[in-house]
Amino acid sequence: MSRRDHQFKTIAAVATPAGYGGIGVIRLSGSESIPLVRRLFVQGDESTLTPNHASLHQIVNPETGQLVDEAIVTFFQAPHSFTGEDVVEISGHGSPVVLAEMLRLLISLGASPAEPGEFSLRAFFNGRMDLAQAEAIKDLIHAQTTYQAQLAARQLRGELSRQLKPIKESLVNLIVHFESAVEFVEDDLDPLDATRFSGELDAMIERISRLAGSYRIGRVIRSGFKLALIGRPNVGKSSVFNSLLGRDRAIVTSIPGTTRDAVTEALSIRGIPVELVDTAGIRETVDLVEQLGVERTRSAVSEADLVVAVLDASVDSIEEDLLLIDQLPVHLYVLNKCDLETMVPEADLSALAEKAPVLKVSALTGDGIEELRNGIYQQITAGTSSIVESAIITSERHFAALEQTKESLRRAQEDLQAGLTEEVVLANLHEALRSLGVITGETLIADLINQIFATFCIGK
Ligand code: GDP
Repeated sequence: MSRRDHQFKTIAAVATPAGYGGIGVIRLSGSESIPLVRRLFVQGDESTLTPNHASLHQIVNPETGQLVDEAIVTFFQAPHSFTGEDVVEISGHGSPVVLAEMLRLLISLGASPAEPGEFSLRAFFNGRMDLAQAEAIKDLIHAQTTYQAQLAARQLRGELSRQLKPIKESLVNLIVHFESAVEFVEDDLDPLDATRFSGELDAMIERISRLAGSYRIGRVIRSGFKLALIGRPNVGKSSVFNSLLGRDRAIVTSIPGTTRDAVTEALSIRGIPVELVDTAGIRETVDLVEQLGVERTRSAVSEADLVVAVLDASVDSIEEDLLLIDQLPVHLYVLNKCDLETMVPEADLSALAEKAPVLKVSALTGDGIEELRNGIYQQITAGTSSIVESAIITSERHFAALEQTKESLRRAQEDLQAGLTEEVVLANLHEALRSLGVITGETLIADLINQIFATFCIGK
């Protein structure tokens, strides 16, 4: 059965997580919600449910009359409910057995078990929220850091849709102009108009670029980032790794090349999830370092968002280090073992500092580790003052749609500059509008919408 067919049935699901708890909630949505729930009321309970009011009821098995639970029942009347339909929530005791029994009874009376995300899907179809807002509900539920929750809450209030609105309005205006030019004027576009339209297109492209650009930080907040620690054997990578983690995870020994395989750990730096990768130790000779070591390290860092190169302050030459790290995109240099006398020539350190910040630490004493955390945070947030405020785009799907919109607008701009006909320009403008609508769900085909909601949890 397609979700569309399901649309008019009354659905029911347990809306609280599996397991034991103080309360557990069953949620129903659809025109039969009230009659269905009332059939579970104990005989003699004739109370009608008042919208936005909670009332206490004895819930029984209608066939046997056996008491199932005592529950608070709340009614949200259409259209002022989450889904836009009549919604009833039964808050019973948080026992999986009791909740399963209540759900079983409701289904035996004619309710359909809700599919994952079906409540949100109905809210979307009934115009209670756009697709970006519905996705924000999922993000809010699955948030693992406070930042993620803050971002999702902002999205849920319609922040993205609010930002997209003026862009969409400009685009629609432009389309209207071109459509009427096609419709009513035989001659070519007035050069003055062409300049004005071109300016408007530029302004739209600029706004979309800014929004899409916010995905860099949005992605980091949402999915975290991968940080690779690289460096010659024995410089103290594993020790720095452990200091960042605050515990002994990677094995530390004085034998070069102990860290044979990349070790991965999860940590959080100022609320941002970080996947820390301690790259494999490299034991080859200098010549081989060039041939094999760089290759292996390169592949280990290829997926990293941030590359931190560790150097040993107590050695008098960093030539070997440079062989390994010079060809890699290093964002931060860490001069470790600063508890020992620094032997690295000042000139070499200055040369490094020109490429990326150099931070002095001692993994042994912990000195400089907090500064290293700050340095990593600064690199990843690029000095943004409020990272939640600046991250509007957090989803790959939205980012891709914005990029597509931008591409179509660019093509429209090129066609306009090249003096092509209004029809050609229009085709790209319509394409841009379609891509933009994909974000809020206005122009998404039903199959895709179903796929998106299918990733939600049941009861949401
Ligand atoms: P890796 O091969 O780069 O992962 O290096 P390890 O973390 O295994 O460290 C190599 C050696 O350097 C070990 O003997 C560590 O105890 C030592 N070491 C690591 N960090 C420091 C530090 O900050 N100061 C000093 N004095 N020794 C350190």
